[in-house]
Amino acid sequence: MNSGAKISKDSKNSVIDLYNRLPDCKSPHLFSFLPPAMKNIPAFKAILESPRNVIIVTHFKPDADALGSSLGLAGFLKKGGHKVTVITPSDYPTFLMWMPGNESVISLSNESEEPFIKAKQSIAAADILFCLDFSNFSRINSLGEFVKNAPGIKVLIDHHLEPESFADFEQWDHKAASTAGLVFQLIEQLGKKNLIDADIANCLYAGIMTDTGGFRHSNTTQTEFLIASELTALGANPSNVAKQIYDTNSFERLKLTGFVLSQKLQVLPQFHTAYIMLSSQELKQFGSQTGDTEGLVNWGLSIKGIKLSVLMYDRKEEIKLSFRSLGDFSVNEMARKYFEGGGHKNASGGMSRLSLEDTLKKFLSILPEYEEKLKSTN
Ligand code: 5GP
Ligand code: MN
Repeated sequence: MNSGAKISKDSKNSVIDLYNRLPDCKSPHLFSFLPPAMKNIPAFKAILESPRNVIIVTHFKPDADALGSSLGLAGFLKKGGHKVTVITPSDYPTFLMWMPGNESVISLSNESEEPFIKAKQSIAAADILFCLDFSNFSRINSLGEFVKNAPGIKVLIDHHLEPESFADFEQWDHKAASTAGLVFQLIEQLGKKNLIDADIANCLYAGIMTDTGGFRHSNTTQTEFLIASELTALGANPSNVAKQIYDTNSFERLKLTGFVLSQKLQVLPQFHTAYIMLSSQELKQFGSQTGDTEGLVNWGLSIKGIKLSVLMYDRKEEIKLSFRSLGDFSVNEMARKYFEGGGHKNASGGMSRLSLEDTLKKFLSILPEYEEKLKSTN
């Protein structure tokens, strides 16, 4: 059967019907109904036709979507004959280090200047610079000015709200649940899905799985299941990826979670809000490592009636804030307005240079402004 030829772009159902009848899942047009294709794909494709020196940069303290989309794209581009280096502006959790390609990531740290020098040189020498899972230079800290001023072609692949406009090519869609999904979509649009192997598929699957909260958040649509299904057909192992990311806790991390739930979680019923505040001493007490606080903020939202959940903790250089919300309540607006941050409508982050106690005071003082919205949100 010539599977692609008769697919109607306007009808999702007909695509799904067809999809169900495709045992090999190889239709090149399967995802042609997906929203926005990169503008000027032919030019982008032409650029990739010769071997290039490529840099992929993702955001500070990368999560599974940031690292998974970067390493998935890196694997894909390497297969196309390009020289690819992934740079992270900071370290990342050990539960992401299983990802194929992890061993050659240039990961910056305060302890050593060597990776920073290497990163700067690679950025300046790159033909193409991919910026993944962020769209504001502030998210890559001091690397921002080097990427901004680099002579290479810049490509943005991202799904965060209110992006800076700097890229020559953009695959940006704030409705996309993950950057990893956008990478898949781009590969699909390049007509190169056949280059996706199990390693690449696992990296991309990890990004989709985590940014949808294990296919539970409101950003989980048919598209995410379709892409996850394709990636599984191409070799991703959902059970293993979930195990590596969710079920490789240290005993200390689990104890930190227990401590937070029993001692630190506070509820403000009037504002439908829950918050958690963690000092650097408390984090030290549980031998906290990068990534150990990830997911704590979601516990607040799991309480019936809670519509806004906030985690604030002392990262020493600054206070880091994580925001999560339900429905139409935009934590992106709150994080942007008051905490130099941003992200998505229902999941955002920010920071504060005040003390932990003063950060809490500031947060409590702004809540009345949002009281009505929090009451009416459903
Ligand atoms: P998390 O709370 O898990 O760190 O981040 C939630 C979302 O907000 C993620 O999409 C993340 O990329 C984004 N985010 C986290 N921290 C910041 C920040 O300081 N600034 C901006 N603009 N986005 C952030
Ligand atoms: Mn993401």
